[in-house]
Amino acid sequence: MENKYIYSFEEGSRDMKELLGGKGANLSEMTNMGLPVPQGFTITTGACSRFYEEGKILWDGLLEEMHMYLSELEEKQNKSFSDEDNPLLVSVRSGSVISMPGMMDTILNLGLNDISVKGLAKSTGNERFAYDSYRRFIQMFSDVAMEIPKVRFDSILDSMKEEKGVELDTELDAEDLKTLVKKYKAVYKEEQKEDFPQEPIKQLELAIKAVFQSWNNSRAIIYRKLNDIPDSLGTAVNVQSMVFGNMGETSGTGVAFTRNPSTGENKLFGEYLINAQGEDVVAGIRTPNEISQLEDNMPEVYEEFVKITHILEKAYKDIQDIEFTIENGKLYMLQTRNGKRTAQAAINIAVDLVNDGIISKEEAIMRVEPNQINQLLHPNFDEKALGKAEIIAEGLAASPGAASGRIYFNSEDVVAAKIRGEKSILVRQETSPEDIEGMIAAEGILTSRGGMTSHAAVVARGMGKCCIAGCSDVKVSESNKTVRANGVSLTEGDYISLDGSTGIVYLGEIKKVRPSLGGKFDEFMSWADEIRTMGVRANADSPIDAAQALEFGAEGIGLCRTEHMFFEESRIASVRKMILSKTVADRKLALDELLPVQRKDFYEIYEVMGERPVTVRLLDPPLHEFLPSREEEILELSKAMDISVADVKDRIEELSEINPMLGHRGCRLAVTFPEIYRMQTRAIIEAAIDIKEKGYEGICPEIMIPLVGHVEEIKYVKNQILEEIALVFEERDNTVKFIIGTMLEVPRAAITADEIATEAEFFSFGTNDLSQMAYGFSRDDSGKFLNDYEHKGIFKNSPFEILDRDGVGKLMKIAIELGRKTRPDIHLGICGEHGGEPNSVEFCYEIGLDYVSCSPYRVPIAKLAAAQAVIKNK
Ligand code: PEP
Ligand code: MG
Repeated sequence: MENKYIYSFEEGSRDMKELLGGKGANLSEMTNMGLPVPQGFTITTGACSRFYEEGKILWDGLLEEMHMYLSELEEKQNKSFSDEDNPLLVSVRSGSVISMPGMMDTILNLGLNDISVKGLAKSTGNERFAYDSYRRFIQMFSDVAMEIPKVRFDSILDSMKEEKGVELDTELDAEDLKTLVKKYKAVYKEEQKEDFPQEPIKQLELAIKAVFQSWNNSRAIIYRKLNDIPDSLGTAVNVQSMVFGNMGETSGTGVAFTRNPSTGENKLFGEYLINAQGEDVVAGIRTPNEISQLEDNMPEVYEEFVKITHILEKAYKDIQDIEFTIENGKLYMLQTRNGKRTAQAAINIAVDLVNDGIISKEEAIMRVEPNQINQLLHPNFDEKALGKAEIIAEGLAASPGAASGRIYFNSEDVVAAKIRGEKSILVRQETSPEDIEGMIAAEGILTSRGGMTSHAAVVARGMGKCCIAGCSDVKVSESNKTVRANGVSLTEGDYISLDGSTGIVYLGEIKKVRPSLGGKFDEFMSWADEIRTMGVRANADSPIDAAQALEFGAEGIGLCRTEHMFFEESRIASVRKMILSKTVADRKLALDELLPVQRKDFYEIYEVMGERPVTVRLLDPPLHEFLPSREEEILELSKAMDISVADVKDRIEELSEINPMLGHRGCRLAVTFPEIYRMQTRAIIEAAIDIKEKGYEGICPEIMIPLVGHVEEIKYVKNQILEEIALVFEERDNTVKFIIGTMLEVPRAAITADEIATEAEFFSFGTNDLSQMAYGFSRDDSGKFLNDYEHKGIFKNSPFEILDRDGVGKLMKIAIELGRKTRPDIHLGICGEHGGEPNSVEFCYEIGLDYVSCSPYRVPIAKLAAAQAVIKNK
């Protein structure tokens, strides 16, 4: 309906997420499934957009609709606002389309005022509870809706506890709480210059406005940016009749996952607190009980809860993250949503669900975010080093991973450390949404309070960041910036290490090693392999990298950068000699030194890769990378070349370039010094003959010429290569196969690709250079200013990270179309960094590339993205 902005829970369904937000849609779904959900209604995301269009006001039509739904709620509940006997109280919570845990605001107990608090005391027979609810409401409302700092209330509470000589809030009696209410109202009046609003409708209007406004608070904006959530979605608001977990020993509140969100184990995972309300569990102020204890505490409630978790998992076909409240022994469901999980859990759960016949392989593939896999491929602590490390504390293993870094105690200090290039650990008593930037910048997070579902734990798991929570062994002083743990005292800047899989905190930095994968990961990846149609190769320059790439499932090498082979200490002298030689004869001498080493390099790489394709790119260094700069290097070189230091310096001066990235590199180098590529070609072909003789009959190296912009360049260089191959063939086996192609990385090459394709048997898009040259953004320098582009919303992402489909992508499409005109079967790949970035991989699939090539660690990510691209484009 066009002008409908509110839906009761009976009217909605889980398919209406766009309109009702995740929470609202799922509350509706649970209501309609007959589960015990307190009644209420949802104000739509459309209302949020209109709220902003109207200049941040609640317009008359919405207010009328709200009154209607409120009366209906009063009727259904048989309660009314401001009732002296049995008042209606509601919670007001945000609920966006994509979950943003804890980023936006919640107000509980709304409707309490000086009259209804008495009604609540009467209807519950519990005056203490009524005034406790009222003081919580005043504080929450003041903080969330009116932005009165929370500390103003906390300090009053603290001094009252001190006066009474008690430690816990629960030790304050009804009279104390009445006094607190008075004092809180006085703070409100002082800050707002008016009395605390007594009219529930006014409270509700202000609360709804606050929720809409919280969509644009800075932490929500940062969270959206981090998670690629569009700003335009807006949030819905859920107004729900209150149930109370703080009514005494037969009441409580909790959070549970239907499976373990860290490991994926199919076992109920969660925690609860008796006599507590709302955010107490996730806020981490009291350390909660494990969910399994509920079985002893309240067996009937537990049994019903377990039954409901099964119903929900079956309905949603995924792990559920559930919030519940128990009011006087009766269970209520407050939320269900698909649970955030680590990469390991995501894969294990997806595989289990397929094997249990609940979802298809395609669905499983779509369940895992490709970039999330990164977490699995990252190093763990070396077992030996770990064994020797000093343990200083143990907390909850809240989010797996291995992190070492210097400790800092607030978000700003962590961010500053990151800018200095330091790795850091954020240490806090507990985290809150204000800490989000620090959590992003830190290697890991350590909190002294809070449980497995505390803010720190949930957010860290969502980010794939290592976290130890509830580590009560450590005493954190945020103001003094110190930590004490079992006799060890640490201050800001000291190193610690966290093992997020065991919850153990170690002193100092610990060596890390690469992980070994297997089991369900392999099963999952085999499904990605079945589904995808695009090949995935790796960029690897050494036998070690090649072996790593193979382990991660690479199907070949799409880019072997030969210049990287020259950086080794034993070789750099010969390379420098080659570069600085003045005569061809001298250069040949240096090249003669390099030939056997290069041949060995290629041989060893072929040996690892078997008959899989290997694309070797001929030398493409910006020359300055190889020139010596330190005096002792220059001296060494002058000795090795038997020329004076002054001559060496002159030669360096001659070769130095103002803009090396656009300078004498790639095939331009071979135009000047063809003997360099001839030596490399000889090494490639001789190594191929050697390996063929060892039984690898199918060996067929792909020789790749970089930085071609004009067909005449490739013609000249290719001719040199062919001449050299002819020489080798005369000397050795002339049946070994090879193909010759080019990098497609200069815009001119893209738009004359029909001409280039007359010479090239394959194109491999070098999108690092293609992006650099399409935009004219220096790869070396643009990082400094592209941040401003992102902050000012000019670019959503750096074009060096996510392929610019509209510009660079267009050049690629032109090149493909033109290239295929000349050579319909031209083989097409990509080897720029974008080849391992999921969004760009999807684009590569759409434009018809045969393969992507990326760093070994990104191979599984690219494979998954390639499989998802097939499913998305079905
Ligand atoms: C590229 O330009 O995309 C590429 C892969 O080559 P390099 O990064 O070595 O210039
Ligand atoms: Mg390049």
